Amino acid sequence: MHFGLTDEQEMIVSTVRSFVENEIYPHETLVERTGEVPAEIAQEIKQKCIDLGFYASNFPESVGGPGLSHVDFALVERELGRGSMALTHFFGRPQNILMACKGDQIDKYLMPAVRGEKMDALAMTEPDAGSDVRGMKCTATREGGDWVINGSKHFISGAEHADFVIVFVATGVDETPRGPKKRITCFLVDRGTPGFEIARGYNSVSHRGYKNSILYFDNCRLSDAQVLGDVDGGFDVMNEWLYATRITVATNSVGRARRVFDHALSYAAERKQFGQPIGKFQGVSFQIADMITEIDAADLLTLSAAWRLDQGLPANREIASAKVYASEMLARVTDRALQIHGGMGLMDELPIERFWRDARVERIWDGTSEIQRHIISRDLFRPLGA
Ligand SMILES: Cc1cc2nc3c(=O)[nH]c(=O)nc-3n(C[C@H](O)[C@H](O)[C@H](O)COP(=O)(O)OP(=O)(O)OC[C@H]3O[C@@H](n4cnc5c(N)ncnc54)[C@H](O)[C@@H]3O)c2cc1C
Repeated sequence: MHFGLTDEQEMIVSTVRSFVENEIYPHETLVERTGEVPAEIAQEIKQKCIDLGFYASNFPESVGGPGLSHVDFALVERELGRGSMALTHFFGRPQNILMACKGDQIDKYLMPAVRGEKMDALAMTEPDAGSDVRGMKCTATREGGDWVINGSKHFISGAEHADFVIVFVATGVDETPRGPKKRITCFLVDRGTPGFEIARGYNSVSHRGYKNSILYFDNCRLSDAQVLGDVDGGFDVMNEWLYATRITVATNSVGRARRVFDHALSYAAERKQFGQPIGKFQGVSFQIADMITEIDAADLLTLSAAWRLDQGLPANREIASAKVYASEMLARVTDRALQIHGGMGLMDELPIERFWRDARVERIWDGTSEIQRHIISRDLFRPLGA
C-alpha cells in the first residue's frame, strides 16, 4: 500500500491549485455579488485551461484528452473544488458519456466538446422525477421515421452555456412482474432545434452564478442520428458512463473543505478573546481537530474509490460511500468554520457564509444522501439475498 503521490501527481495538484488561486479566486467576489460570470472571464478561463492542456481532463488521449487516471482526475477535481463552481465550470469537463458517440456524432459532438468548441449539459431530472429517474414523464414517440419529444426537464446545470444537451426521455413501457417499467433513451439535442427551449431556471442559495435551467420540449423532432447509445438503452449508457461521476461531488467537497479549514485554522490562531487566541480554548481546538480528521478520512475514502476504478474493481458502493461521507463532512466542516468565525462568519465580508451555503447542495445533487445510502445498503444485502 502506498499513500504518497507520484511526482507527476504532485505536479497536477500544484498546477491546478495555482490555476484556481490565480484565475478563479480573483473573480469570486464579483460572481457572488452579481450572480453572473462575465463572458470575457468565462472565455479567458476556458482558453487558459486549454493552453495548460487540462481541458476535458476526464477524457482519454485517444480523443484528444490528457488521458488521466481516475486518481489523477480526482486530484484535479479536488483542487477545482476549492474554487467557485460558476467559474470552474469553464475549466471544461464535458460529460464523459459523450464517449458513447458513434459515427457522425464523434465529429459533431464528442471532438468539439473535448476541444472546447462546444459545451454540453446533461438533462435527466424533471419536476416530477428526481431520485425516481424512471418516473420521468418526458417522452419521445415515433412519428414518420422521426422521434417527437414532449415534456420538460428542470435543474439543468450549465444549459445556459450549452451548445447541445444530452437528454434522457422515456421511449416506452415494459410490463414486468414488479409493475410497469419505463424504457429510457438518451438523445443529443442541439440548441436551436425547433420545439426545444432552454429557459431560465431557479435562483439557488448554493453556488451563485452556476445557473440551472428549465428545458421545454414541444413536439421537438429528432432523427435516429441524435440517439446516443441504443434506442431504449438509456440506462445502459447511463450505467456505463455516469456512475463514476458521483465521485466528483466527493472530490470537490474535500477540496472545498480544505480551503474552509485553512480559514478556520488561521482565524482560531489569530482571533483573541479573554486575552488569548480562541484556538487555545479546548472548545475551539477540539473542533479544529475533528475537522481535519474528517477531511482526511473523506480524502482517503474518495481517492481509494478512484483507485478502485483504475484497478477495474467494483466501486459502486465505495463511490456512494465517498459521496455521502464527503458531502456530509463538508456540511459539518463549513458549519464549524462558521461557528469559529462567530458573527463575522455570517457576513459577506468573508467567504465563510458562501462556503456554508454552497455546501448544502452537495448532499442533494448527483443522487441525494438517502439514495447513496440505498446504493450502499443494497450492495451489502444483495449477496445475502435480502
Ligand atoms: C443546483 C442543482 C443542479 C442540478 N443539476 C442537474 C443537472 O445538471 N442535470 C440533472 O439531470 N439533474 C440535476 N439536478 C437534479 C438533482 O440530481 C436532483 O435534485 C436530485 O437527484 C434529487 O431529486 P429531487 O430534487 O427531485 O428530489 P426528490 O427525488 O423529490 O427527493 C426529495 C427527498 O426525498 C428523498 N427520497 C426520494 N426517494 C427516496 C427513497 N427511495 N428513499 C429515501 N429517501 C428518498 C430524497 O433523498 C430527498 O431527501 C440538479 C439539482 C440541483 C439542486
